[in-house]
Amino acid sequence: MSEGQDSTQKRWGHLRKVLERPGPFCHPEFEPSSEIMDFIVTSCKVLVIGAGGLGCELLKNLALMGFKQIHVIDMDTIDLSNLNRQFLFRQKDIGQSKAKVAAAFVNKRIPGCQVTPHFCKIQDYDEGFYRSFHIIVCGLDSIVARRWINGMIMSLLNYEDGVLDNSTIIPLVDGGTEGFKGNARVIVPGNSACVDCTLDLYPPQVTYPLCTIANTPRLPEHCIEYVKVVLWPKENPFNSTLDGDDSQHIGWVYEKSVERALQFNITGVTYRLVQGVVKNIIPAVASTNAVIAGICATEVFKIATSCCLPLNNYMVFNDVDGIYTYTYTAERKDNCVVCSQVPQTLNVTDPNKMKLKDLINLLCEEETYQMKNPGLTTVIDGKNKTLYISTIKSIEERTRDNLNKTLVELGLKDGTDIMVADTTSPMTLVFTLKFLKRSRDSRRVEFWCVEEMADDKNVEKTISEDLVVTKYKMAGEIVNRILKQVLEKCTAGSSVREICEFGDQLIVEETSKVFKKEKELKKGIAFPTCVSVNNCICHFSPIASEPDCILKDGDMVKVDLGAHIDGFIAVVAHTIILGVSSEKKAVGRQADVILAAHYASEAALRLLKPGNETYTVTDAVQRVAESFNCKPVEGMLSHQLKQFKIDGEKTIIQNPNEAQKKEHEKFELDKHEVYAMDVLISTGEGVGKERDNRVSIYKKTDETYQLKLKASRMFYTEVRTKHGSMPFNLRGFQDETKAKMGVVECVKNKLIEPFQVLYEKPSELVAHFKFTVLLMPNGPHKITGLPFDHELYKSEHSISDPQVQSILKSSANPKAAKKKKKKTESEVEQPMEVEAVA
Ligand SMILES: [Zn+2]
Repeated sequence: MSEGQDSTQKRWGHLRKVLERPGPFCHPEFEPSSEIMDFIVTSCKVLVIGAGGLGCELLKNLALMGFKQIHVIDMDTIDLSNLNRQFLFRQKDIGQSKAKVAAAFVNKRIPGCQVTPHFCKIQDYDEGFYRSFHIIVCGLDSIVARRWINGMIMSLLNYEDGVLDNSTIIPLVDGGTEGFKGNARVIVPGNSACVDCTLDLYPPQVTYPLCTIANTPRLPEHCIEYVKVVLWPKENPFNSTLDGDDSQHIGWVYEKSVERALQFNITGVTYRLVQGVVKNIIPAVASTNAVIAGICATEVFKIATSCCLPLNNYMVFNDVDGIYTYTYTAERKDNCVVCSQVPQTLNVTDPNKMKLKDLINLLCEEETYQMKNPGLTTVIDGKNKTLYISTIKSIEERTRDNLNKTLVELGLKDGTDIMVADTTSPMTLVFTLKFLKRSRDSRRVEFWCVEEMADDKNVEKTISEDLVVTKYKMAGEIVNRILKQVLEKCTAGSSVREICEFGDQLIVEETSKVFKKEKELKKGIAFPTCVSVNNCICHFSPIASEPDCILKDGDMVKVDLGAHIDGFIAVVAHTIILGVSSEKKAVGRQADVILAAHYASEAALRLLKPGNETYTVTDAVQRVAESFNCKPVEGMLSHQLKQFKIDGEKTIIQNPNEAQKKEHEKFELDKHEVYAMDVLISTGEGVGKERDNRVSIYKKTDETYQLKLKASRMFYTEVRTKHGSMPFNLRGFQDETKAKMGVVECVKNKLIEPFQVLYEKPSELVAHFKFTVLLMPNGPHKITGLPFDHELYKSEHSISDPQVQSILKSSANPKAAKKKKKKTESEVEQPMEVEAVA
């Protein structure tokens, strides 16, 4: 019996069961046949890249599956430290080629198998070599090499009239491991995401901040890193640079690290860890390699035989703590540098300022390019010109001076093509320069406006500019007008949801009427309308699928909303009690809490002056509340407002608990700052709790994260384009159900933050006033808020605290005290009303 017959009859019996019978899990177009096994055994040609931890496993798996035409390529030689997991190697093999030893081992052990070794770099072969394989599988530890082979198989694709010739596709199966984590992916060139489409999956290497290492070490790694980067250069014990392979060096670092760890009570410094940190090694784990190689080999088998649908298309594996796997579809990037066929443009803000070295930095640092040492050439007036190449010494010396020249000085123009060669790709990439600002010797004017905007974004706009003050005031006027209309809608029997919808619609309408000609100018909702009733503290604005709330007589109703023009935000909140009139005054706790909130906000207004500390405001709000036997809601923050930022860094806390007192920073108020002053007062303990109400208001943060689910990505994109960093309500999304699904992963990974709906105890009441104030050099200028009618409320309490009395008696507007007040500002409430309570 010949060897071939033996193989197909007995040796591959298990595989024949899969390949010669149909089944429920088969590929829908799979046709069982005995010829498939023949293809694997006789003609399928597989290239394994890397003969290390993954490579050894891959070779063994593929050979035992029946693949005979296997090639393996690796430039490394065998090291003692490989032997614990790279099981095709023995002590006697140390120093020899990994590819050669691995191939010989497999060929000897598995009869009929013909592994061909290549002891060289992948870059040493050209297209012809790579084109000869049916499938390529990678077990690499280098991102650069991975990108290079990815670029190679992309360059083999042939498009005819924009249609991909499928016979030019060579599928790539790629595995990677790092300690207890791993991933496997299937790349079908031209069809699924390539390595460069998902470059953001490879973040820059983690480094420890020097301040942590030096001052507040917490981990054994911090102690080792300290000895490595601080002590070694200082003491220079062996008069040489630190060598991770020198046991004397590692021994010294180990001893010093243990000393330092003792000082900070840190445990866990071991010799091995020292070696790992010094050499930047993430320990390889044999079991992780085995799992990932198993998955990759299975994918190769699936692709070669078409018996099952291949992995779609990215799987992560983690066995740090139990076993976790997750598979998702990594998506193609529409303008991927390597696989998209889309011409690449490089936007240049100012060609008169941008130097060649800035352009090179951009190519290296930009997440989508991440190049290593790009060489740049171009064609000027029909002549090839080398701009800079660092990898060839003689050319580097000749072109070094170009680095400090601007693009204009180099003769580059808008639309010039730059050819870029880099180790991350076998192809030369072409980038077209796009100048956003005209260079001084060209006449393109239409780019001016684009550039102006881009430049403006870098400079923070404040109310030191008149135009900014105008925009704030316009937003303030709109907000006051809408607040009035919304309050009129708040009557017994009306629906909170409808009132909120009404408010939001008004904000969009009213803001659309201003700055109509400036199409780029953004405006609209800065805070969606909320109507929170009685013991509900804030952020109640139910979406269609959640229970509504119907208002009734005697309800304490708090309306909260905001608008922005060009990112300049005006917010407001106001409290009323339904059914109350001067004949039928509110008394008791209702009156207490609403008056407390009103006077606290008035006191706050008078303290919001440049030079004052935020805690003086905190203190005054506390005292006023206590005068009425009430409490400010614990830990609530008032934020500084900035353009497109509703939660600026400076904050004023109210009623902080012990922990918050320690953590929350003091700030000094400064002129030209803007604040949204929030005062929330409760008749109860003032501790807000979440209940079962769904959050409906969210806001994008500045965090970044690669979302896994398509629904989440679509949702996030909509948030970014429609709302930017402004708070929004889920109600505003076309498909509310999808939005509810999409928001979950975003919140979990902190891309989006929720505004929790908070409640006091059911028997308590909460009142809320909020206004927006501009800290002008001549004093606070309040731009939002409606007049407060004292006639409606009768409390048995009053403010007796002399300090608070004197604050309230002072004027809230120093300018008005000196000059005659202009009529246009009369809507802003006048300060002198202390008599009513004193
Ligand atoms: Zn791509």
